[in-house]
Order: sequence, then C-alpha cells, then structure tokens
Amino acid sequence: MVVGIHRPSVLTIDLKAIQYNIKEAIKLLANQVQLFMVVKANAYGHGLVETANAAKQAGATGFCVAILDEALELRESGISDPILVLGITSPTDAKLMARNEIAASVGSLDWLVQANKNLQAESKPLLVHLALDTGMGRIGFRESNDLLQAYKFLEEQPQFIFDGIFTHFSTADMKDDQYFKKQLAKWHQLISTLPKLPRFVHISNSATTLWHHPLEGVNMVRYGAAGYGLNPSGTELEPPFELHPAMSLSSELVFTKQIKKGDSVGYGATYTAQHDEFVGTIPIGYADGYRRNLDGFYVLIDGQKCDILGRICMDQIMVRLPKDYLPGQQVVLVGKSGNQEITLQQLADHCQTNHYEIACGFAERLTKKYL
Ligand code: PLP
Repeated sequence: MVVGIHRPSVLTIDLKAIQYNIKEAIKLLANQVQLFMVVKANAYGHGLVETANAAKQAGATGFCVAILDEALELRESGISDPILVLGITSPTDAKLMARNEIAASVGSLDWLVQANKNLQAESKPLLVHLALDTGMGRIGFRESNDLLQAYKFLEEQPQFIFDGIFTHFSTADMKDDQYFKKQLAKWHQLISTLPKLPRFVHISNSATTLWHHPLEGVNMVRYGAAGYGLNPSGTELEPPFELHPAMSLSSELVFTKQIKKGDSVGYGATYTAQHDEFVGTIPIGYADGYRRNLDGFYVLIDGQKCDILGRICMDQIMVRLPKDYLPGQQVVLVGKSGNQEITLQQLADHCQTNHYEIACGFAERLTKKYL
C-alpha cells in the first residue's frame, strides 16, 4: 500500500473528538455497563490502532471488529483488552483465536462442532459469544431449541468458554420503535431459555446506546458510529449530546488558471464555462474514496463554496474559484472553513448513501494526521 505523503491531501483525525464522544456515552450508561468501541473497517476509516488506543484512554474496556485480521492487528499493536470478532470466522481458525484470546461470534452448533475438532490440542479455551438473530436476519440463532443445544455443547466442552451473548437491532436509529420492541421481546424470549447467562450480555449499537438505554440485563454496549461523531440515525433523531465529528479532509490547490467562455473541463467535456472563470485543480479523486458521484458537489476555500466542475477524476478534481488563487491555497473537502462546514452527512446525502460508507470508503492512500 502506498500512502501519499508527498501531496497535500490529508485526512485529519481528531482523537480528542472520539474521546469526547465516548466519555459522553459512558455518562449515559449505568455503572456496570462497559463500552466496547467498534473499530472494524479500520475504525470506520479513522485508523484502527490509533483509534483503539484513544478509545481505551477515554474509558473503552474492549473492542469489536468485523474480521479476524483486524483483531490480530490489535493484538500485534499490544492491545490486551477483550476483542470480539462480530462476523462469522472460519472454525479452522479457532486455535488461532483461542491462542490470541480473541472471542468468536457463533450462530450455529455446527460451527462449534467444527471448531472443537481444531481445538483438541489447544491449551487455551476459545471465548465464544452466541449471536441471536432477533430480526436483523443476518447471523445467529433464531430458535430456542437450537440455542439451548449450543449452550449445552459449550458447557460440556472444556475447549470453550461461554463468554457472551448478543443480538443486533436493525431499526434502533428510527423514530418508529415498533420493530425495535419486537426484536427486544424476541431477545428476552430467547435468553429466558438459558439456565445461565455469560460474562457479557450486549444488544446495543450506537443508536441503542443513545436512544434506548437503560436496558434491563445489558452490561456492555458496542459503540461505533457515534464514537466517531456520526449520528447513527442520519438526521432522523437528535442525539442526547452534541456529537463531535472526528474526521476532516483537506488539500491544496496544485494548479490554477483562467478559462474562457466556451472552454470545457474534465472527462467527457461535461462542463462548459458560460463565462470566463478561474479554475483550480485539487490532487484527490475517486481512487482516494472521493467518490465519482460527488459530481456537482463543492469544496470550501476561504469559507466560500466552490463548485466541482465536470467529472471527478481518479486522482484530481477541478473547481471554480471565486478569484485567481495561487497554487498552495488551502481547500477543505470535509470540515470547517470560515463560517461554512461540509459534513460527511452532506457528502452522503449527495451520494445517496450513509456517512458510514463515506467514512470507511476513504482510501489508505490518503495520509492521516492525528490531533
Ligand atoms: N454491533 C454490530 C453487530 C455491528 O454490526 C455494528 C456495526 O455495523 C455495531 C455494533 C456498531 O454499530 P454503530 O456503528 O451503528 O454503533
């Protein structure tokens, strides 16, 4: 992977903002409830290890990732706190996980049977969190009988520790809480069949943490988007505290010129100037995750909105300048400039997606600066 340290396009990550968003969330939680920071997908594009260390200082007591490799990277960086892989791993990696004290999310008895074969000669037991599918329809046990069978298998086999049980809500970020309540009822029905609950009982993502706590019996939350200052509901619900966005994106003009009325800009010559105007070129493009469907969007220069002209290229974009700025002029693509601000939410709205996708879509090629 090549990181562009010799160009001015920089993703700036404000770790203090992440810490603020974590500390405020912890204030909302009852004393016995731990916060695990969700740092999957390179911490939603914010940098896995840097974010994890900052989160730990702010009070996070564990971490959730999506894939085993992310967990191993955390362990390699020296993080010794609990780590849960939220996605389904291969039972053939059970030994690797056990050795590294990485907990697996498990949604079937078959997985445990397969993993057990691989764990026979392993001295450390594998930590298991049973996933319950209460309505998300993604992974997990859906029936009490299947859950109970898996529970019994875990209890009988010394190669496993039943360490956690969880579910995931699909509508916790919506005003209408009918489906949320349905999932919650299913959760209670499923766990009521178990004779004993494990160390970690967790059902809350950011939205559930912000808008549905306190929740009976829960002692850990999996806190992602809101930790990065992203409102998990988009704009539907108001968060209980002001979320501080941690990510901003800036660059500089590297080339400027004046074009004449009738001149075109960019691939396909889709933009043609109606007047003589100044144009600046910025060294960032869709290969950096500055998506092609940001055509028609804008950047900020000196607190002024400057329209993107023509198509977004792979590595460069062109913008209309309000005056003949020189190369080296600062450009804000996400963040504040004067009285203006561009948020990840605005980019997402323009691209008809969510801010999660925009944040984790910025490429590793963009160098990161940490505040
Ligand atoms: N828990 C699970 C199982 C998830 O898949 C995710 C993210 O997708 C989270 C927690 C964190 O969600 P959020 O980023 O909305 O807090």
